[in-house]
Amino acid sequence: MTSSLATVCYIAATILFILSLGGLSNPETARRGNLFGMIGMTLAVVATVLGPRVTPAGYAWIVGALAVGGGVGLFAAKKVQMTQMPELVALMHSLVGLAACLVGFASYIDTSIEFTGAEKAIHEMEIYVGILIGAVTFSGSIVAFGKLSGRIGGKPLLLPGRHLMNLAGLLVVIWFAREFMNAPNIQAGMTPLIVMTVIALLFGVHMVMAIGGADMPVVVSMLNSYSGWAAAATGFMLSNDLLIVVGALVGSSGAILSYIMCKAMNRNFFSVIAGGFGTGGGAPAASGAGAQPAGEVSPINAQETAELLRDSKSVIIVPGYGMAVAQAQHTVYEITKLLRERGVNVRFGIHPVAGRMPGHMNVLLAEAKVPYDVVFEMDEINEDFPSTDVTMVIGANDIVNPAAQDDPTSPIAGMPVLEVWKARTSIVMKRSMASGYAGVDNPLFYKDNNRMLFGDAKKMLDEVLAALKG
Ligand code: NDP
Repeated sequence: MTSSLATVCYIAATILFILSLGGLSNPETARRGNLFGMIGMTLAVVATVLGPRVTPAGYAWIVGALAVGGGVGLFAAKKVQMTQMPELVALMHSLVGLAACLVGFASYIDTSIEFTGAEKAIHEMEIYVGILIGAVTFSGSIVAFGKLSGRIGGKPLLLPGRHLMNLAGLLVVIWFAREFMNAPNIQAGMTPLIVMTVIALLFGVHMVMAIGGADMPVVVSMLNSYSGWAAAATGFMLSNDLLIVVGALVGSSGAILSYIMCKAMNRNFFSVIAGGFGTGGGAPAASGAGAQPAGEVSPINAQETAELLRDSKSVIIVPGYGMAVAQAQHTVYEITKLLRERGVNVRFGIHPVAGRMPGHMNVLLAEAKVPYDVVFEMDEINEDFPSTDVTMVIGANDIVNPAAQDDPTSPIAGMPVLEVWKARTSIVMKRSMASGYAGVDNPLFYKDNNRMLFGDAKKMLDEVLAALKG
């Protein structure tokens, strides 16, 4: 393939990626967005492999790497449960970071292209910054993977003088950048490069370890953004324009998502990075720990729930992480369909950080074919709770916790929540009194108008559906 044809393919792939991102912003066009992304990526890979910069001698390596990488990807995608998706995404981000580091070291020791003067300085700066971003992304994503999968506790690790430590690390990194740029040869440049890589790896671990459970959504999207910048840095090192553009697209869309997540949590981006939010909380629900329950709750059974729903005019369903665990979305759809056929106004209220990844609930509801026009964002539906007969909270906890509004000492104080308790009756469906991801007790459970339907969400909803049909 000639270099001009490869450039044309790169431009087409760039347009497809932009269309893909545009499509992904709306559930109705998301499928088409994914398709554009897949075509764009195929075009990009084919144009790169057959392009002028790869000699036929390299084909065997590329085919081998594609087979191994593609095989692992296919296996992971087939095997992973929907609830493990956020962890898988965090692992994938770590691979982008690792790739940026490896490409950085490889470009530095590669003497096949001679750089001189300003070009040499720019190339070395690209390598230094690329490895820096890559290493932070790599180690930060590994820790995020540990936190999301419950292997590492959600409680923030707050080392004494942590801000000073970070500052000292930054100064050392800047100092070694100078040493690296002034190094007379590759051997001499290796020491500052390796020292900086180790500091960047430690910084990535420290940064994510210091983040409290409730701030994890911001960190997940922030690492997504970093992985984009790491890819862009790789593009600079390899002088590959498409990789630069795609990296910048991922980096900036991740940054926008982080901003949206910060707004959803009512948090300032810099305080998230500074860490420590959720200090008073326990470990994430995955580890089984949580705050001690305080008060009496009123249980309800499936039959009574069905009766309440049958007698309602308006119902709002609030799904959370537990719906994903129980894979209850299909039964939720069946119940919605049945109630709507009987004239009940059933709608869904989606919190921006419900579940364990951005858009988690929207994906599940779309999979179950819930019509998009009954699915509302938190801001769109929060005012409607007082005029609602029944709210059904399915496996959600932190996102419906009134303590965020009422208790300034709560670790999640200030986080906007879905005000489900303002409906005539709220029903919370979960297996026990365990806390949610942020590890805080939920006063909603003890309110007079709240009922607890204990059990696995899928099992309980199956029973509710049977009672509704009966
Ligand atoms: P939570 O983690 O707060 O609560 C989920 C609840 O589901 C638990 O209390 C659990 O209670 C219940 N549950 C678990 N399994 C089942 C089951 N099989 N059947 C019924 N219930 C079940 O989830 P939310 O969605 O309310 O809030 C999301 C939390 O995750 C927030 O704190 C957010 O900050 C955080 N987060 C979000 C990310 C994102 O990008 N969206 C990323 C990382 C973290 P029990 O064990 O008693 O059943």
